[in-house]
Amino acid sequence: MDNCIFCKIAAGEIPSKKLYEDEDVVAFHDINPAAPVHFLIVPRQHVATLSDCGPEQAALLGKMALLAPKLAAEQGCGFQVDTDGNRSGGFKTLFNTGPDGGQEVYHLHMHVIGGPHPWRVRF
Ligand code: 5GP
Ligand code: ZN
Repeated sequence: MDNCIFCKIAAGEIPSKKLYEDEDVVAFHDINPAAPVHFLIVPRQHVATLSDCGPEQAALLGKMALLAPKLAAEQGCGFQVDTDGNRSGGFKTLFNTGPDGGQEVYHLHMHVIGGPHPWRVRF
């Protein structure tokens, strides 16, 4: 898609701080992080929003969801449960969709947001 910033980042035409890439997706640090850890998981395929996804994107969406905890752990905000059952760490995953969803870049992306207090917000 012409003039799509995330297509250009995925293609390496615009620089980004990538933390993961494969044939289907790229993950890179958000340029304006909302928390100590804030990265985006982005499909190489141009799909504008979550509302534009259909069954043909099911595997891709599953892959993005499964990558989130793996990459979050690598970035130091993985979710953990110790032997006493105490939970620690963790992260948020977020798809903003449309103007009322706060979407600014119309190429599907999953935010992964984490890190220690005090950044934590309800959404
Ligand atoms: P949205 O509001 O569309 O869900 O989020 C878009 C996100 O992309 C924002 O958090 C914004 O900071 C990030 N972003 C926008 N342009 C760039 C860019 O050129 N590089 C990187 N790394 N992040 C970007
Ligand atoms: Zn795109």
